[in-house]
Parts: sequence; C-alpha cells; structure tokens
Amino acid sequence: MKFSDLKVTTPYLELPPLFYDIVEPTPLHKPYLIATSPACVKLFGIDEPLDLDGQLIDIINGTEKLQGSKTFAMCYAGHQFGYFVPRLGDGRAINLGKVNGQNLQLKGSGLTLYSREGDGRAVKRSSIREFLMSEAMYGLGIETSRALALIGSQTDVAREQWEKGAIVLRVSPTWIRFGTFEYFKSRRKYDMLENLADYVIEESFPELKDQEERYFKMFTKIVHNSAKTVACWQSVGFNHGVMNTDNMSIDGRTIDYGPYAMLDDYEANYICNHTDMEGRYSFSNQPPIMQWNLSILANALSPLVNIIKMEKVVEKDFVNIYESEYLRLMKNKMGLFEEDEEDVALLKWLLGSLESSVVDYSRFFRLLSHYDGDKTALLELCEYQQPLQEWLESYDTRLTKEKLSCQERSKQMFGINPKYVLKNHLLQQAIEKEEAGDFSMINDLLKVALDPFFEHEELEYLNVPTPKTYKNLKLSCSS
Ligand code: AMP
Ligand code: MG
Repeated sequence: MKFSDLKVTTPYLELPPLFYDIVEPTPLHKPYLIATSPACVKLFGIDEPLDLDGQLIDIINGTEKLQGSKTFAMCYAGHQFGYFVPRLGDGRAINLGKVNGQNLQLKGSGLTLYSREGDGRAVKRSSIREFLMSEAMYGLGIETSRALALIGSQTDVAREQWEKGAIVLRVSPTWIRFGTFEYFKSRRKYDMLENLADYVIEESFPELKDQEERYFKMFTKIVHNSAKTVACWQSVGFNHGVMNTDNMSIDGRTIDYGPYAMLDDYEANYICNHTDMEGRYSFSNQPPIMQWNLSILANALSPLVNIIKMEKVVEKDFVNIYESEYLRLMKNKMGLFEEDEEDVALLKWLLGSLESSVVDYSRFFRLLSHYDGDKTALLELCEYQQPLQEWLESYDTRLTKEKLSCQERSKQMFGINPKYVLKNHLLQQAIEKEEAGDFSMINDLLKVALDPFFEHEELEYLNVPTPKTYKNLKLSCSS
C-alpha cells in the first residue's frame, strides 16, 4: 500500500455550501521533494517509504488527486491581535479530504475565495519551519497537527524579498478553529452554528453524541484540552507567537506554526513575533490569552449554550486545570515526584533564578537530569551564577524528601527533559543549507525532533549552545 493509493472521503462537504469554497490547487513550478516524515505516514498504516512513492510530489502539487478527493477551502473568522475580523478562512490552504481520521491539507497551494489581498502561497523558509516543528511537537508528546511531507519549487513569491514557494502536506484530526464558530455567530446564522457544533462533536468528541447538554459538554472539553496544551507549551518553552482565535484548534491541539520559537535563555516575557509590539502573545501571556480566546469561543457558542455556565468553566476549570497540569509537568522536569507544599514556591524561585542567571531553558533541565550534587556544570551554563547557586542549595534540601535514588531520578528525567530542541538558530542553518541544495540538516533535525530524549551520538552538532547573536530572536510574521 502506497500513500497515493489512499482513498479519501469529504465529510466536511456535507455541510451547507456557506462553509467552504470548492477550489482547485494552483501547482508550483518545478516542484521537488524536500522531506517526508516517516513517523507521520504511520498514521495511515503505510509501511512503504513515502519518498519512493512516485506520485507523492504530484499529489502535493495538486496535479494528481487521491481517489475520492474533492478539493476545498474552509471559511472562518477570528480575533487577530484582539480585533474581530469577520471573514478569514483558508486563504492559502486547500483540503484534500479525510482518511483514517486524519484530514489532509495542502498549505501554500494557491488562491481561494478567502485569500483576501494574499497570494495563496507559503514561502520555503516558513514551510520548513512548520514541517519540522509540527513533528517536533509530536516528538515532545504534545497535541498537534502533523506534517507528512514538504515540497519546494521554482515559483517566485514576493515577500520582503523574492523567495520561492513551497507546500507542506499537513495532517490533523480536525481543522475547525474557534474562529469557525465566530464566523457563523457574527452573521447570526444560528442554524449553521448548530450544524457546526454537531459536526465538531462527530469529528472530535463522538462520545458526546447522544448525551444531554452535549454542546455545553463539548465546550467544557475544549476548555480542558486547551488548558492542557498551553501548560505543555509553558513547560517545554514554546512560544506560539500568533494566538489569534483563527489559529486555535477546536480540539485544543497546536496548529498554524508561524513565527514560533523554543526559548533559548529563559525570559518570561519573551516575544518571538516581531510584529507583536505590545507583547500580547509573549511567552508568559500564553495562558491568559488562551483563556481570553476561550471566552471569545463561549460568546460564539452563546446562541446554543448558556453563556454564564460557559464563563464559569472558562474562569474556574481553565485556571484549575492549567495550574495543576503546569505544576505537574514542571515538577517532573525538576525530578520531584513526591508531594511537598513548598513546591509551587520552589518552582517560582527557580524560574526567577533562571532569568536572573541568564541560562538556556532546555539545556538547564537536560543538565539537571544528570545532577548528582556537583553544581559545577550547571553553574557553568549561567552568565551570573549566584541566583541559581542559591536555588540549587534549596533544591538539595528538597531532594532529600524524594524516594528515588539519584540514578533512578536521572533515568526518569532523561525521558522528560529533551536533549534536542528546535532552536531558531538551528532552523535558520537548516534553511540556509537547503538553499544551497543540501537537505541533510532538515532530515537530521527531523530525526532528533521525533526522538528528542535519546542520545543521537552522530548528531551532536544539533546539540550546540545558541550563539549569542541568535539568542531569543524575534521573527517576522511574513510567511
Ligand atoms: P496566519 O496569520 O498565517 O494564521 O493567517 C491569517 C489569515 O490570513 C488566514 O486566513 C490565512 O489563510 C491568511 N493568509 C496568510 N497568508 C496568506 C497568503 N499568503 N495568501 C492568502 N492568505 C493568506
Ligand atoms: Mg492561521
């Protein structure tokens, strides 16, 4: 069985025509395959290597179709940087259909009804970033859309300078966004809102189908999932960068990788998105912004569900789940598996110390996984040692309450604190190498991204400290 033998269905097209635009992809000129994800293809029960599939490039480029495919773009609205935009939609994404519970989507494949002033294209640089980070997020065990393959081309695309167009074949159990509900609410199409809610239950929460108050329960699940995902982001040091409601998946997974960053030095108020002047989507703002986004979703669902009940879920459940999940994840990162009421304070102190000591977030935790009481290596990571030194003394005392031996704790922590992290300096290098015709670094990064906790001795060049000039960079949104 090859990927190109898959048969897809298009359940989304059973919704009324207002939900979509039937549109054909516009092929890129001279397409070529850059990378495929062997882990992602497993979702389809395919064992043959994707790059041996002679039709793969044509399917991604839109010159061949999978059986059963009818291509379309989805409509949605959304709050962008806090302001409502009544019509967005897939301006450069085209859906192919669904198979094995996964919706296939091309990103960068040309104009649709929703392209507005855009060109329907995605540039290679941002497509490489989306391809790799989707798979890295999966490698870290965090809910995300996936990326099956990536093609480049000779099509010129105008951004700040001329660049080349690319297409990522993205995969997700759902592509419905908070903004999809906002679209119909703002048009007062409440029957469509109900159609959409039923569709979401069928696609993402089938267990709710015959239950009473199923829309309220659906909303509650969305809140819980979103709280868990943002707790994961905070624990691994992921800054999404564009948490507009049109980029929020209805099942709480991470989608739409733009100017994201994995933290270099720990900096609570880091802003990865160059255009985000006020820091609305800064690292530390992510949990409250997710909560705000959920309150927007509650409003969009208000014709179907009592708003007061939904607001309570946003206020209470979100905070409770976020805080307990974040604490649990961070305690695991610290190797603290016993209960201690001082742990919240110890964690806050650690984050303050990391920031004052100026230390790389993920390198710190990986090295902490080796900790046996000798502080030398950890302190060598710091620009200023004293804050972290003081914290480590208190950590020593806390460790005496742990039941695991030092070796057992290390073993656990190695599986929690990744050794390989997709820092921007590495992504930049991989992009530059691809420009020169060398795809090897993209494939190496993919390998460690999919398996980030283990030692890949032959790929040590992907575990180097971030050069000073590349630390906590801001990235352009144009993609
Ligand atoms: P994003 O910030 O990438 O999530 O995009 C926000 C909205 O703009 C979505 O509706 C996108 O489909 C649309 N969009 C972004 N870039 C382009 C483009 N180059 N051409 C057409 N639409 C675009
Ligand atoms: Mg988007």
